[in-house]
Amino acid sequence: MARYKIAIVGAGPAGYFSAQALQNSETEDLTFAIDLIERLPTPWGLVRSGVAPDHPKIKTVSKVFEKIASHPNFRLFGNVELGTDIQLADLTARYDAVIMCTGSNIGKKLGIPGEDLPGSISAADFVTWYNGHPDYVHVDVDLGIEAAVIIGAGNVAMDCGRILALNPAELDTTDTADHALAKLHSSHIRQVYIAGRRGPEHAAFTAPELRDLPKLEHTDVFMDATAIEEALARATAEAIDGELEKDIRNNLEAMRVVAEAEKAGNDRSLTFRFLSAPKEILGDGKVEEILFGINEIRDGKVVDTGATYSIKCGLVITAIGYEALPIDGVSYVKGKIDNVEGRVVGTNIYTVGWAKRGPSGVIGTNKSDATDVVKLVVEDQTAPKVSSDITELLMSGHPVVTQLTWEAINAAEVAAGEPLGKPRVKAVSREELLKLGNLLA
Ligand code: NAP
Repeated sequence: MARYKIAIVGAGPAGYFSAQALQNSETEDLTFAIDLIERLPTPWGLVRSGVAPDHPKIKTVSKVFEKIASHPNFRLFGNVELGTDIQLADLTARYDAVIMCTGSNIGKKLGIPGEDLPGSISAADFVTWYNGHPDYVHVDVDLGIEAAVIIGAGNVAMDCGRILALNPAELDTTDTADHALAKLHSSHIRQVYIAGRRGPEHAAFTAPELRDLPKLEHTDVFMDATAIEEALARATAEAIDGELEKDIRNNLEAMRVVAEAEKAGNDRSLTFRFLSAPKEILGDGKVEEILFGINEIRDGKVVDTGATYSIKCGLVITAIGYEALPIDGVSYVKGKIDNVEGRVVGTNIYTVGWAKRGPSGVIGTNKSDATDVVKLVVEDQTAPKVSSDITELLMSGHPVVTQLTWEAINAAEVAAGEPLGKPRVKAVSREELLKLGNLLA
């Protein structure tokens, strides 16, 4: 019987689904010892620090993660940072395979004038701020202004827009980080805009997220019904045999419902603007206005009309995608780990998830991705390495968050949430988390 040692780096969805795929590949003759290494004291990646707090259903996938973690061949090494506490070369030498599931966490930049003004931030910072990621607790988010503009027509833009536009009382029973909830309660923001540079038919939103919008009780959501009808006409004219792609049809249908929904006259609004390309962020020492070029669609192509308009605002959040923060010893191409179908050619390194394919797909997409890559991992094994345990590599006394430690942290957070009707109260500093795990006094 062969037992291979596999290190997975990054305890987000891609990491857990890779562990699951390995567990599912086990036979009587082939088993794995899986070590999941995570730099934070908490696992779950985007499920903890990315998914919007008002979407708790999406987070129930954490139950699957905990089931994977309960397998006897699985160990968690939280609070262990690659490059600091442990080196990639140590892992590749001691493990039969290393699967990098390190995601992409740097927000892409627009590259327009004014982007660096105070009041212009990336969704990568804002989302992690309201979700209590320890590295983003101190992000300066100015909510003492009337209007905010979100750039991008994807689900991250939608999350940012919703969090700013809804009545913060709607977040009271969620796991929004305490510091963010307090600030959102005193927010002066009443108008939020989401701006996409192409037409409604090109938006990267998904229909379930669009269908949720009319359910916002305290926020009026505006979309231009005419713009949606025009988009439908364009998309239908371009469709093969006049048959619209399912995703586009569902999106436009959901947008039409939003556009036609009766408005309650709330003072909070969320307004969608399409064919709006950000040109410049203006302001004297801080964001005061954003200038858009007006696009149009000519012969199926998005073109700049030369006309412009602007929105007065004190906050601009850029939600136009992410790229990976490079890790020493791995080569990157266009914000992703340089790989061929998940193999880092010529090494025993593999990659799954956003680090491999870029920031696309929903959480479940990582499951099929992991299954495909793990097939290659299994195929490539010839004979298990004889090597010593990872614990030897860690500095003596380094506080490691094991699965048992994490369960203590998790239980403490959940218990703190119970009397408040919240799923949990998140601890947001490494020290606090290590204390909850009884690793610090
Ligand atoms: P995304 O879906 O790729 O959307 C990025 C948006 O940014 C697109 O509308 C894109 O427009 C726009 N954009 C890119 N460069 C731009 C520029 N220079 N100027 C103006 N706009 C620009 O990315 P995302 O929203 O970050 O989401 C990442 C992934 O996570 C997606 O697969 C998303 O579905 C998923 N996610 C899912 C959920 C959920 O299921 N609830 C929640 C959050 C995120 P173009 O199309 O014109 O390039």
